[in-house]
Amino acid sequence: MLDLWYKHSVIYCVDVEVYMDGNGDGIGDFEGLMQRLDYIAGLGVNCIWLMPFYPTPNCDNGYDVTDYYSVDPRLGTLGNFVEFTRQANHHGIRVIVDLVVNHTSTEHPWFKAACQDKNSKYRDFYVWADEKPEDAKEGIIFPGYQETTWTYNEIAEAYYFHRFYEHQADLNIGNPEVREELYRIMGFWLQLGVCGFRVDAAPFLIELKGIEHSADITDPYEYLQEMRNFLSWRQGDAIILAEANVPMEDIPQYFGDGDRMQMLFNFMVNQHLILALARESAEPLVAGLKALPPIPKMGQWAQFVKNHDEMSLDKLSESEQEEILTRFQQDKEQVWIYERGIRRRYPPLVGNDPRRIRLAYSLMFTLPGTPVLYYGEEIGMGDNLELEERHALRTPMQWSSEPNGGFSTASPDQLIWPVITEGEYGYEQLNVMAQRRDPNSLLNWMERAIWMLKECPEIGWGTWEIIEADNPAVFAHCCHWKQGTVLLLHNFSEQPCTINLKQRLVNSDQHLIDLLGDRPYEPLKLNSCSIELEGYGYRWLRVGKNQQ
Ligand code: MG
Repeated sequence: MLDLWYKHSVIYCVDVEVYMDGNGDGIGDFEGLMQRLDYIAGLGVNCIWLMPFYPTPNCDNGYDVTDYYSVDPRLGTLGNFVEFTRQANHHGIRVIVDLVVNHTSTEHPWFKAACQDKNSKYRDFYVWADEKPEDAKEGIIFPGYQETTWTYNEIAEAYYFHRFYEHQADLNIGNPEVREELYRIMGFWLQLGVCGFRVDAAPFLIELKGIEHSADITDPYEYLQEMRNFLSWRQGDAIILAEANVPMEDIPQYFGDGDRMQMLFNFMVNQHLILALARESAEPLVAGLKALPPIPKMGQWAQFVKNHDEMSLDKLSESEQEEILTRFQQDKEQVWIYERGIRRRYPPLVGNDPRRIRLAYSLMFTLPGTPVLYYGEEIGMGDNLELEERHALRTPMQWSSEPNGGFSTASPDQLIWPVITEGEYGYEQLNVMAQRRDPNSLLNWMERAIWMLKECPEIGWGTWEIIEADNPAVFAHCCHWKQGTVLLLHNFSEQPCTINLKQRLVNSDQHLIDLLGDRPYEPLKLNSCSIELEGYGYRWLRVGKNQQ
């Protein structure tokens, strides 16, 4: 049975390794995560996306897998995993898992077998060349940290292709046996209770680089269709949420007619949202939204403020990137990475200003699509720029003011990654427990916003339109579904204002009701299209019928 649950959901991204350590060895694990399911359910989240938890040498935060059919022993066992998915389901939470099949670790037994024996069936699992291709320096994903996309392997006596780091050899998706293995992997985890996959690096997964002449398929997008068919035949409510930061003209290929990926992260809107927040003007966001292609009914955007990677700004011009760094007062030397993004969480970009933090997340919740929260965002966690590359923003979850932020009972030098200890983002100041006790905390706000979002199915399910307002700092939009309409207003500027909507939204027998806002709730005048907003303010309003 097809089920469009993802249209009206809140997804929460968890990195098991740094979320909660249940056995006191300094590494987060499934046991710890299970202890925190009540907390996650309490937020109102109804889908957990698990970042890679497979056996790994861990050279790229688990995105270098050595066994797709197992759990990293540091994090638990398959038994723990099944117990976790079952308990999550009991909490009304579905689980999706990261599917990292563009490449394997070079430590994977397949790669080792492929290197050792040219006649091994695994040789053709990877992409090889006898001579180093001339374009080996093109398309590098991690400039500054990666020199080439082709590396010589002494044992194999050949060059292997790796779109990412050299310890991540690309799989040959042109090989039908590789695709069969991929479906076997998907089938395995579906059987263990997951409800779909977040597909890592989707555009590279389907690229035919290095195998242009040997692949048995000419349209790589057909793979997406194949994957989706397999998924839906096995389990009708399972979804694929794809990471595809691609040009807008390629997007329709990923959604197909609703028969390929159900969800894509909306990188276009994310980057324009960041520019809008930096510039304090709604115009970039409007431009980003207007650039989106139409998507099929079954399709859905995944909206986010900050994910686990660098805040990529690759869809903006160089001057816009510079503008963001300047307006957010960031030291480019320290924060700029891979020639495209900022390796920080969001609150440090806005000086921890609670108004600007709530503004960003209010937008994330109400923009057309389904919101995705990265763990720690709900309490406004900061980052640690002393850690290399993207690890800056992957520090352990801060639960309480106890040692190690309550993340682990191990001694601090045994932690997999250090907890943030200093300043306003240090765990003694900023943690779940403290925010639980404070009615004005970000955590309490997040819970309220998520619960209110649940009462607004128009946002996830409905159609949307941008409403013209007479102030360029204000973004106004409406979502309609069935008989319901909600009006969402966001003021990007520090200046309070009164806006006049140019479009008539309310008939004579209707009025506006405040659902969520940053100001006292008061009855709005009947038929009023003139609405007050605080500086960095937001209001969620429902168009309601007058009582007869
Ligand atoms: Mg542990």
